[in-house]
Amino acid sequence: MVQVSARIANLAVSETLAMSQKSNELKSQGINVINLSVGEPDFFTPEHIKKAAKQAIDDNFSFYTPVPGYLSLRQAICKKLERENGLSYKPEQIICSNGAKQAVCNALLAVVDPGDEVIIPAPCWVSYVEMVKLAEGESRVIRTGIEQDFKINAAQLEAAITPKTRAIVLCAPSNPTGSVYSKTELEALANILAKYPNIIIIADEIYEHINYVGKHESIAQFENIRDRVVIINGVSKAYAMTGWRLGWMAAPQWIASACNKLQGQYTSGPSSIAQKAAEAAYLGDQQCVVDMRDAFMRRRDLIVKLASEIEGFKVNKPEGAFYLFPECSYYIGKSYNGKKIETSADLAMFLLEEGHVACVGGLAFEAPDYIRFSYATSDENIIEAMRRVKETLSKLK
Ligand code: PMP
Ligand code: GLU
Repeated sequence: MVQVSARIANLAVSETLAMSQKSNELKSQGINVINLSVGEPDFFTPEHIKKAAKQAIDDNFSFYTPVPGYLSLRQAICKKLERENGLSYKPEQIICSNGAKQAVCNALLAVVDPGDEVIIPAPCWVSYVEMVKLAEGESRVIRTGIEQDFKINAAQLEAAITPKTRAIVLCAPSNPTGSVYSKTELEALANILAKYPNIIIIADEIYEHINYVGKHESIAQFENIRDRVVIINGVSKAYAMTGWRLGWMAAPQWIASACNKLQGQYTSGPSSIAQKAAEAAYLGDQQCVVDMRDAFMRRRDLIVKLASEIEGFKVNKPEGAFYLFPECSYYIGKSYNGKKIETSADLAMFLLEEGHVACVGGLAFEAPDYIRFSYATSDENIIEAMRRVKETLSKLK
């Protein structure tokens, strides 16, 4: 029989995108679904960024772009890294890609050989484990729970390291938990990693600007590991540009060069128009970033309050990103109309079909007792969604 490769057959579907698609299907049938599944800002891209994109079209930015992105964009990213993070990079160390998603995958494909281990602190974003599979590596998931605010500590990290460890993917602020590591916490991890010179640190900082506790701290600031850190970032979340598909890495030269080669054979440079828009985002007024962050923080407070009032939910107070990740094991094993909720994915499906609220079960994030709500939506939607969740869950016996 003709069939797809084992590589693709073994790959899981992205659960975040699948739940969002399912929610949109129900919406197109006229059902009033509130979509708290996919994580993307509900704001429109700021005007000055859209204007730069329109100008780029008129100025005929219509040709293939350099594989790592326009030099002018990479210079703008270097300025951003200097200005906001106090980190000095050369434009040659920046590779722009089709979203931060491709940048993470590039980094893993560039350093992981078959059988190499990649440490992934969990709960983790759905795509990391699958990307490691694409690179034919093995994921070593470190589990954490709500009682430690979903953050790994130095002892847990050291216990997970083996002679085969090749990389760690650290996401902060975190998707799906919103946890933010303090400088001291990051330093403790850096001090462990400093003892293992073969480990590459992939620091996914896509939620850098959605941080409610102050200045973003990058693990790249620690000199003892600096030459092994790959920073991942992009414009999707900070500038409300998810559909533009523009992310990047700032990496040691040998990794940047490897990704340049990979991208040259695989996708070429990202969209010319998106790049010119991203350049305007990084060089323009940053007030839009602050305004959106403030709105997310207000919504965080609202959803934390409402979700805390739901029986059986254990809730913490996330310090960044726009996700709430309640512990919901209270409902696993309960039933409605003779149908048993076996997993948090069943619970998410029940909430969608019965309560018309889309969210994502924790299993996809390597955390089966939890459920994820994205609160990047209006106050009214948050209030109505939590009302529906409370009412729907009360039907489970
Ligand atoms: N990393 C994390 C943790 C994310 O949540 C996302 C959102 N999809 C990405 C990377 C990718 O972002 P994008 O490809 O839209 O830049
Ligand atoms: N990162 C977002 C999420 O977790 C977007 C969807 C995706 O690419 O996974 O919902």
